[in-house]
Amino acid sequence: MLTTERPKLKATPGPRLSRLPHIQHLDADTRHEIDVVSAILPFKVNNYVLDELIDWDRAPDDPIYRLTFPHRDMLSPELFDGVAALLRSDLARPERTAEIARLRMQLNPHPGDQLQANVPQMDDEPVNGLQHKYRETVLVFPGQGQTCHSYCGYCFRWAQFIGIADLKQATPGPDPALGYLRNHREVSDVLFTGGDPMIMSTERLKEYVEPLLDWPYDHVRNLRFGTKALGYWPYRFTTDTDADELLRFIERLSDSGKQVAIMTHFSHPRELDTTAVRTAIRRLRDAGAILRAQAPIVRHVNDDAETWASMWRTMTHLGISPYYMFVERDTGASNYFELPLHNAYQVYRDALSSVSGLERTARGPVMSASPGKVIIDGIADVAGERVFCCRFLQARDPNWVGRPFFAAFDEQAVWFDDLRPAFGQNWFWDSNSNIDGHPAGTTQTACVI
Ligand SMILES: *Cc1c(COP(=O)(O)O)cnc(C)c1O
Ligand code: SF4
Repeated sequence: MLTTERPKLKATPGPRLSRLPHIQHLDADTRHEIDVVSAILPFKVNNYVLDELIDWDRAPDDPIYRLTFPHRDMLSPELFDGVAALLRSDLARPERTAEIARLRMQLNPHPGDQLQANVPQMDDEPVNGLQHKYRETVLVFPGQGQTCHSYCGYCFRWAQFIGIADLKQATPGPDPALGYLRNHREVSDVLFTGGDPMIMSTERLKEYVEPLLDWPYDHVRNLRFGTKALGYWPYRFTTDTDADELLRFIERLSDSGKQVAIMTHFSHPRELDTTAVRTAIRRLRDAGAILRAQAPIVRHVNDDAETWASMWRTMTHLGISPYYMFVERDTGASNYFELPLHNAYQVYRDALSSVSGLERTARGPVMSASPGKVIIDGIADVAGERVFCCRFLQARDPNWVGRPFFAAFDEQAVWFDDLRPAFGQNWFWDSNSNIDGHPAGTTQTACVI
């Protein structure tokens, strides 16, 4: 238990994890794995995750441990051995760093072409730190919100955390975002994302959000915040020094008629179990926020129906609506976390069928792909061919939203790019797919969005 009245965030970065007292009872191989894998992928685990979430009697197989700690299988055996040899070698530091950087390139640090793909333009200049892909919703990546209280092993923003991605995917401050929003009256939703916007102080956050209360932004009805703070640091909403100020601010936003939607990210039902998270949820609801939940389905953490069913039941009970079950992207440790689409679909369906209608509000499995957000609605035999029944929940072209389409069934497919059109046809959007000069492929967006 964290016993102090005001717990202080203490985050341990990857290379120091193997020295934590918590893991001294794990065997020497496990500790060695931690050093090797964290030399190449970014990790960060804080005291709340260590002391309140991980069940150390079950580590290293505990799901929260698997979510947050390095594991040998996150790297291919060759890459693992390569990094291990490098750590043993007596290479000087600069050479070692260069060699590590070279090895990292094997992990697809920039999936798709996405960094620039959805960045909007204003006065013929890109507005960095914004994404505007779907008509109604603009994503804002505040420059000061590009980290998290702890990291998820499956995070597709890992390259950015480690400093090798193009960090221009962050606003220098609120002004460019505000300027763009003033000029786009079709936008009803602004989604602050990251990293985690709740890593910012309340004061910083206000600089971005408060201006939206003024009349030039009356078209913005919904203020969304994509955050995993409830899962990783619920004290952000309870005892942190500016927690009360944050809650009062949220109350002011809701009172002014804006809907404040906290887009939470829970990977496992245990994250909903602590006193701290329950207090935080209660306070957010009392301040007038609505809460929704989204997370990817990943192996070792939540790849079974009972985990999702139990998560959906508990959330709904606590006043959080299940929203999306995502499929994780093809970057970093994706081989370790990924599961075939047909398995993800089966888990979704089994979970759905064991909860009540009120708890069935999550849509999934969903992939954020280049043409749009694609849901797998089912697997069927049609005209002698086994197919995935798919549909756009969001699309670059609003006319595609809701349109069903069929992909050839593929047992091995784990991501949208693995799918091929069924019946020997083309994708119905293919003639349009180059509107922005981007072939179909992965788009990386924000935290599990
Ligand atoms: C998912 C997503 C959104 C939000 O979509 P909703 O279905 O409205 O939640 C907005 N922009 C991008 C780029 C997204 O990937
Ligand atoms: S998935 Fe989201 S919460 Fe997790 S590390 Fe990535 S940005 Fe942070």
